[in-house]
Amino acid sequence: MDSFVITADQESRYGRHHLIDWWDQNRLKTSKVLVAGAGALGNEVLKNLALLGVGNITVIDFDTVSITNLTRSVLFRESDIGLPKVEVARQRVLEINPEIAIQAIHGDLEFDIGIGDVCEHDVIIGCLDSVNARWAINQLAYRAGIPWINGGIGVAEGEVSFFDPSTEAACYECSISNQMWERRNQRYSCQGMKRNIPEAAMPTTATIASIVGAMQVQQALLYLHGRAGLLNPGEKVFLGLNPWLAFKVQIQRQEACIDHDMTIEPKISFNYDGNLSIQEILKHLDDSGFSEPILWLRNEVIEMMQCLNPDCGYQEQVNTPLRQYPESKLVCPKCSHERDFEVIRNLSLLGSGANITLGELCLPNNEILHCETAKGSIAIQFCQT
Ligand SMILES: [Zn+2]
Ligand SMILES: [Zn+2]
Repeated sequence: MDSFVITADQESRYGRHHLIDWWDQNRLKTSKVLVAGAGALGNEVLKNLALLGVGNITVIDFDTVSITNLTRSVLFRESDIGLPKVEVARQRVLEINPEIAIQAIHGDLEFDIGIGDVCEHDVIIGCLDSVNARWAINQLAYRAGIPWINGGIGVAEGEVSFFDPSTEAACYECSISNQMWERRNQRYSCQGMKRNIPEAAMPTTATIASIVGAMQVQQALLYLHGRAGLLNPGEKVFLGLNPWLAFKVQIQRQEACIDHDMTIEPKISFNYDGNLSIQEILKHLDDSGFSEPILWLRNEVIEMMQCLNPDCGYQEQVNTPLRQYPESKLVCPKCSHERDFEVIRNLSLLGSGANITLGELCLPNNEILHCETAKGSIAIQFCQT
């Protein structure tokens, strides 16, 4: 029985990992993984990352724990109902493995994490179930230039796909069909404002969530080790549990897809306070040799609401990101007539919207935006002071 003597090393937390010849526990310890979503898949993914000893995790989700989550969420208890999912998940992950660090962001993927912060991660694991959320993760990943692993679950079927901006392979947006865009757009009015439609409840169970979450983490594990994964970039695997079934497909790259050219390197850092106007920033760039600057926004902004009733004509300065402006505010507060507005996608010295302040743009900290200038494109990193 001498061959079964356990050495001191094997008795450590990661002893069984050290027996795997290609394993590099230190690599996992220094890795940074961004988990988008703390629902059924997010719970499984976070649990596995904690068990594996992935050293730095960020989790983002805007939701709170509800009783219906308890059938699929290993990290949540009945006493957690009403609490932010990310906060509960953070505490439970630290109970599983106190040796790792986890940062919880209770917020919206599209508004509450800056590209500069996304860049600091090695990989994103997508655990969200709507086309819009996946599209938003894809945008973050391609701007930040880091790969992401998408997961989706049904009742007894699931899928995992892998996208890597450093390759020429298809991205998630390449795979969005017209039908999927239509479904996405139902949640947004034709002007792009968010409608207050609750997310449809999807039938699913813990078993498929465990399997898909485990496959996503396995893909991340192999990627972090620099080994060929289950999936090559642009590939998707479909799984069926009833009956057993698995097949892989290569997603077709769409030549018209613009996401592939979005990767931005930070060039200029700006320490700012929110009262600074866009005008002042553009002027500063212009004076610094980056003449005729055009700053491109990630989230469009409404500057002015204009009442369409000729007898009223009420004008209201809004300066609010479009997606944060509720559709219910489209009617004029003075006469209840319909109002019109134009969205601002970019800001220039001669264009409209230059009086908007940085605070009104609601940029997340460490945001990076594209800026075109007469000297070529630059990236500007905004650090709030
Ligand atoms: Zn694409
Ligand atoms: Zn009016």
